[in-house]
Amino acid sequence: MSDWIIPLSDLDYGKEELAAAQRVILSKWLSMGPEVQAFENEFAAMQGVRHAFACSNATAGLHLAFLGLGLGPGDEIIQPALNFVATANMTVASGATPVFADISSLEDPTLDPACVERLITPRTKAVVVMHYGGNLCQMAAFQELCNRHKLALIEDACHAIGARFHDPQQRPPHGLMAGSIGDISAFSFFSNKNIATGEGGMVVTNRGNIAERIRLLRSHGMTTLTWDRHKGHASSYEVAANGYNYRLDELHAALGRVQLAKLPGNNERRRRLLSLYVEKLRSLSGWLVPFSQNIAHTSGHLMVALAPSPEARAEAVLKLREARIQTSLHYPCISDFQAFTRWKASAVEKSREFTSRAITLPLFPTMTEAQVASVCSVIQQTS
Ligand SMILES: *Cc1c(COP(=O)(O)O)cnc(C)c1O
Repeated sequence: MSDWIIPLSDLDYGKEELAAAQRVILSKWLSMGPEVQAFENEFAAMQGVRHAFACSNATAGLHLAFLGLGLGPGDEIIQPALNFVATANMTVASGATPVFADISSLEDPTLDPACVERLITPRTKAVVVMHYGGNLCQMAAFQELCNRHKLALIEDACHAIGARFHDPQQRPPHGLMAGSIGDISAFSFFSNKNIATGEGGMVVTNRGNIAERIRLLRSHGMTTLTWDRHKGHASSYEVAANGYNYRLDELHAALGRVQLAKLPGNNERRRRLLSLYVEKLRSLSGWLVPFSQNIAHTSGHLMVALAPSPEARAEAVLKLREARIQTSLHYPCISDFQAFTRWKASAVEKSREFTSRAITLPLFPTMTEAQVASVCSVIQQTS
């Protein structure tokens, strides 16, 4: 059904994106070249990191991150059960074993450091955190834990483009951008993300040795690019590793640059709409809005509320659908999917409860305040 009156998400696209696409078309250079280079430089500057690699999507980026860190067969990667399936699938693709950990609480559905610590074995090599909805995980605790156990720290920062870590006492890593805190991280530019290019992603790291490995693996393990040869900077290449084609192209990079420029304003708008949602949903008995104390520091990727019960959630989804308002669920528990049942999840009870009561409501920068009011009034009628 595509005729939603209020969709879950919508693009903020206009004449700037049209002009960017036209610029690439008129340049007659489509594959990785100057637009990708400029997008990477601008993204790295926004992040305050040394290396940024544009890639075909965040899933490819996560695969590159795991391979760049040398993770593979025999290695365990601890990660949230409450996440999009890409991190878990790429863990399996790299030959490593996913180990699923629980969230801290229903109010803070990010990975619980204490639960992670209990799951560490001699085979554990890395921890992946995911900044749910654009709200940062307990990064000081994860840095300390990963240093102490000599584990790599990977950020699935797909939700958190433009968010900064905030500590009330301003202790480190206070002020660092989401995705610039761990060893390496991945961002997504899928159509519903805070920067939208259709498909697209970015991997960022401050570690030079990982960066060089990723540069090679992203493009077949080849030491030069078609663009370098086109410009006469190189005439041949060596293949130094068995790589992939996980490159981004010029059209997507040009769109990404426009979206990156719009990011601060659009995230501010998302936060404004989130505050409005919280104000209206606060009075409903039994309903809970996670991270409602963190609105000033979120990227505002998602508006998620918890219904009082699974039955109340089902009723709200139905009533919203009748009003032609689209909703979603972020996410079913990964360890309960058919393809993952062979890796046993020890204790993810809080993730399961979260997933049984959560509902994702429409949120996008071009949404109006009247639309937020309409969504909330439908929910009010159910309770
Ligand atoms: C969107 C998303 C991904 C996958 O990104 P793609 O660019 O679609 O591959 C991975 N993890 C999370 C948390 C996401 O939201």
